[in-house]
Amino acid sequence: MVEIRSVHKSFGPLEVLKGVDLDVRAGEVAVVLGPSGSGKSTLLRSINHLEKVDSGTVSVDGTLVGYRRSGDKLYELREREILRQRTDIGFVFQNFNLFPHLTVLDNLTEAPVSALRRPKKDALATAVKLLERVGLADKADAYPRQLSGGQQQRVAIARALALEPKLLLFDEPTSALDPELVGEVLDVIKDLAHQGTTMIVVTHEIGFAREVADTVVFMDGGRIIEQGPPGEVLDNPRHERTKSFLSKVL
Ligand code: ATP
Ligand code: MG
Repeated sequence: MVEIRSVHKSFGPLEVLKGVDLDVRAGEVAVVLGPSGSGKSTLLRSINHLEKVDSGTVSVDGTLVGYRRSGDKLYELREREILRQRTDIGFVFQNFNLFPHLTVLDNLTEAPVSALRRPKKDALATAVKLLERVGLADKADAYPRQLSGGQQQRVAIARALALEPKLLLFDEPTSALDPELVGEVLDVIKDLAHQGTTMIVVTHEIGFAREVADTVVFMDGGRIIEQGPPGEVLDNPRHERTKSFLSKVL
């Protein structure tokens, strides 16, 4: 489903991704761990072309992201085509990023109606179902500021699902939450995992990784240092850097 090949990315003189290769199969959950500054967010943002990589390619469901190939050359897609591609790749941010001036329901219908040209009636029906799924049916008419952080993040997840993405990306979805609200958001993500949603989740929640990940990816210094099933990477890490990182977060 996701094929990342030899991705390099620098910000000025700082090389942040130094050749990343990663495959995630359909229905799998990959959890990405690593110290601050190791390139996790940059990698995630590169997957939906929020960051333009310097070299390498990303494909999602067999489609090159951000480019089209012609012979052996790559040409960047137009903004409109990139926006269209992004509707297939849901992104859930650390800070929820809901539209503050829209109700919960309107947050969920905005993109399906404007980006996918869905009839408003259909978008509303889908939105109501999604709110039920994340346990927030009673908050349809609330504004984001009237919700707890955990509720806002569940709305953000429902909003991502409203576009029926092929892939969901999460960048530290619980790290801005009070500890008592982390569980309700992780439960929603776990549900999605059990229903076979393909996801890449950047998180420091090791318990979640152990329970939900098909594969755990440890990044350091812009490279994937180690990758494998949770039982291997979390319990029997082979690399010193993985061991030392885990000893700090566990
Ligand atoms: P954290 O755990 O703190 O979120 P991370 O692993 O997600 O860290 P990134 O956000 O990918 O790390 O950042 C990797 C490096 O790239 C950092 O040194 C960061 O300062 C730098 N960086 C990220 N975005 C930019 C940018 N737009 N311009 C310049 N430097 C950037
Ligand atoms: Mg980050």
